[in-house]
Amino acid sequence: MKYFEFTTVNPCYCRFVAAVRRISILAAAPRQLFRMCFRVVRFLPMRPISLILPALLLAATALAASQKSLDIYSIDVEGGQATLIVSPSGQSMLVDTGFPGFQGRDADRIAAVAKNVGLKQIDYVLITHYHRDHVGGVPQLADRIKIGTFIDHGPAKLDDPDVARGDYNSYMGVLPKAKHLVVKPGDKIPLKGVDIKVLSGAGEHITTPLPGAGQPNPLCASEPAAVPDLGENARSIGMLFTYGKFRFLDLGDLTKKKELELACPENLLGMVDVYLVTHHGLDLSNAKALVHAVHPRVAIMNNGAHKGGRPAAWQIVHDSPGLEDLWQLHYALDAGKDHNVPEQFIANLEEKNDAGNYIKVTANTDGTFTVLNTRNNFEKSYKK
Ligand SMILES: [Zn+2]
Repeated sequence: MKYFEFTTVNPCYCRFVAAVRRISILAAAPRQLFRMCFRVVRFLPMRPISLILPALLLAATALAASQKSLDIYSIDVEGGQATLIVSPSGQSMLVDTGFPGFQGRDADRIAAVAKNVGLKQIDYVLITHYHRDHVGGVPQLADRIKIGTFIDHGPAKLDDPDVARGDYNSYMGVLPKAKHLVVKPGDKIPLKGVDIKVLSGAGEHITTPLPGAGQPNPLCASEPAAVPDLGENARSIGMLFTYGKFRFLDLGDLTKKKELELACPENLLGMVDVYLVTHHGLDLSNAKALVHAVHPRVAIMNNGAHKGGRPAAWQIVHDSPGLEDLWQLHYALDAGKDHNVPEQFIANLEEKNDAGNYIKVTANTDGTFTVLNTRNNFEKSYKK
């Protein structure tokens, strides 16, 4: 019986393998699938392709389904936060809802990604804190997609002048239409398929190290003292997502005093793979003693064209030891060329009328992950 060799495989099979690869990417299957297809083709007996194609397509689909990933979408809400997490279980959680107004711009963008992913509802919508760029989009989002449960840190600090009463009251108005869960540091968020630990909330924080963490942090000695923050930023819900060996840190808009309580004198958090740059890359946050201690391999900054992305914070993240790449949702127009990453890592380059391109992280249990810029489809894989 004649077998195809890789080097002699005919063009028809090459086209077929390319098609399988496209399908495997669409199905979020790992690159091993592509290699497997080559191996399968290599040893296939010579038969009509019409007989082999359906069998291999079935195998490709089955493999894609069995190797599920944790998907994290940093959606562009022009300097607010909207991070959609889709667990391998199929359950979903949105962290914050962006701004209100703008004819529902932010809610439209979130709903479009959710629809694209195939979600019929968002199981959990977590509000890190009650500033407009996080809670403001709730009513518009609730008009567009069903929400299962709202999660927050409890009542707002209404003496914070940045808490817009209108936004908070609108959220309170929508809240009874879904379930409601209040979380505190140490709690787990019940999204199936991924471990989510609450690190901070309502001004409190965990006081014992996470497993494997708790080492003295030598960076604390040279860290300038941080001023107390009595507003909502310091009350942000911060979370660590763990999926096998992969760890993702999202501290909302936590400001430096609270960051340092998590990182000094001992680093209570340990190291992470992906760090969502805190507070859109503002200087009020991103203390060096925290950022460098958590030692991210990749950082994603949810800045706007003129919001966040401040040069000092950018530099701290950029210089973090072990950082392979920093990705940005926007080109930071006020920061200059020296404080922006190369364009291929930036999802939106324009100041106005941008397409709202998002950045997607696809993470695997072995700690490997890929990051995709949906503006140019530039994708990079990171080994553990
Ligand atoms: Zn914010």
